[in-house]
This record gives sequence, structure tokens and C-alpha cells, in this order.
Amino acid sequence: MRENIIFPDPDALLRLTLMGRQARAFMIRSTRMAQQASDIHQASDVAAAAIGRLLPGCAMLGGLLKGENGRLTVTVDGDGPGGRLHCGVKDGKFKIAVQNPQVQLPLTPDGRQDVGGFVGNKGKLIVVKDYSSGDPYTSVSDLVSGELGEDLASYFTISEQTPSLVALGCLNEAGTVLSSGGILIQAMPGCSDGTLRQLELRIPFFANISREIFDRSLKELAEGWFRDLDPEFLGEEPLVLRCDCSREKMRRALAAIGREELEEIVEIGEETHLTCHFCRTERSFSVDEVEKMLADSEESYDTH
Ligand SMILES: [Zn+2]
Repeated sequence: MRENIIFPDPDALLRLTLMGRQARAFMIRSTRMAQQASDIHQASDVAAAAIGRLLPGCAMLGGLLKGENGRLTVTVDGDGPGGRLHCGVKDGKFKIAVQNPQVQLPLTPDGRQDVGGFVGNKGKLIVVKDYSSGDPYTSVSDLVSGELGEDLASYFTISEQTPSLVALGCLNEAGTVLSSGGILIQAMPGCSDGTLRQLELRIPFFANISREIFDRSLKELAEGWFRDLDPEFLGEEPLVLRCDCSREKMRRALAAIGREELEEIVEIGEETHLTCHFCRTERSFSVDEVEKMLADSEESYDTH
């Protein structure tokens, strides 16, 4: 039923440059990821809208990450009732978690999901880039409105000193995500005033980005919007929702909670259940396994 009305293209990031590389643009479709994540978290419509905006936002940041093994983590820590939002990206694979995904808010006066109210307009946007070649690089900016698009644009301008045009959108209702995606345009050093003006003229096209990508391919849209700006397409990369958790990672996390806590688990004598925040997979650990963790930690303690 859903599949009949959803545009058939898979989720992807399309890279292009404009005016002989004076500017670059990323266009993102993230409809399927937004639907899957909303289903996993049994998200309310406002939470689904927040997910459907944060995913393409993270895809933009991920697309800018250089190096094959780069990992990106974005935390939106606002004062709204939705709580913290977390999104991780590595090699086009995404995972996302929302602290209070069941909170629903009334629609805004113009009939949109109140993402700003859900996230809150006071707080931080925290971006951690890990190139797996040393210390992760963290940058933080203040939230502007909690609507996520403006917050990300402000992050690019303040933290990365790159004036950027950002639009994020999610069209969803009653548990169904009809479209989710976004566009990022960044002026490169040496971009002429004329090109900047041409880009600014196009801002109204992006005001309703989720409706734009609802029934057209990213390339078709780009060809229409940037017809006079010499678009050069650099390729399209697939984007998928896929958590990187494993039983072993969870076991290590449990082993690291501390001796006292582990001893308490053994004393109570019941299986421990842990659930991944991102994919909601539950894994169980027997008392025997916890005893082994204690024994192992004793060993590593002795050798120090
Ligand atoms: Zn997981």
C-alpha cells in the first residue's frame, strides 16, 4: 500500500557542482530510511518528521567527510519534549535514535509538524568527526529554532565558516513517510557575486523540499533548478539505514560498567537484557557470562 505512493527511487545522495565548481551541492533522498527508523522507534508523526529531517542533514555532513573510514556522529540536544536526537553515519550507513519518540505535539498554525517545538530552540548541535586516524574532532553550535534546517545552516556558517544554504524536509502523516530529503549548497572559495545572486534567487524552490522530491528524481530536480548554472553531476551514492551494533560490542559495553554493578547482577542471578538505542535489537546475557566478565576484569586488573 505504502509502496504504491512512494517515489520508486532508492535513498541516495547526489553530488554536483555549479558554474565550473564555484559552488557545490548535495541533494538527498532519505524517504525509506525515515520510514524504517520511524517504524523501529514507533515514532509519533512529529518525531518521524524530526527523524526525516535529521537523516538528510546527517547525510550532508557525512557527504562532506573526507576519507573512506570517516565516522560521523550528530547529537541534537535541545530543551524540547522530544529529548536528545542521535544520528551516526559511516560509509552511507545510518543509525538514528530519539530519546522520546512517542511524544506528539499539535500541528503548527500553518499545518506542519512542530519539529521546532519537539526539539526545542535552546540547546546544542554537536558534531563529532572521527577519521579513525587520531583524536575525533568535535564542533558545537547553538540551536537556532530546533527546526533542524536553520540549525544546520548556522552550524555550517559558524563552526565550519562555510556560508551554506540548507533545506531539510519530511512529508509524513499517520505513520507513513511520503518523502524525506534535503539540499545543501555551498559557495566555494572564489565564487563570484553573480553566482551567489543566482543561487539566492533559487531559495524559494527549496522552501518545500519534501514536496519537490516527493514525485521527482533528484537529478530531474537539479536539472530544472540549475539549468542556467552549468550543473556537473559527480555521481549518486546509496544511503541505507543499518545499525552497526553487535552482540560482542554490547558484551564489551556491559563488561565496562564496573565491578560493583556486575557483582550485583550475579547476586540477583537473572539474565541481563540490553537493547540497542538505535535499532532496538534486544540481546540477553546469562549470569555465567557476567561471571566470566568479572573473572576477566580481575585478570586484567592483576596484570596492571
Ligand atoms: Zn543496533
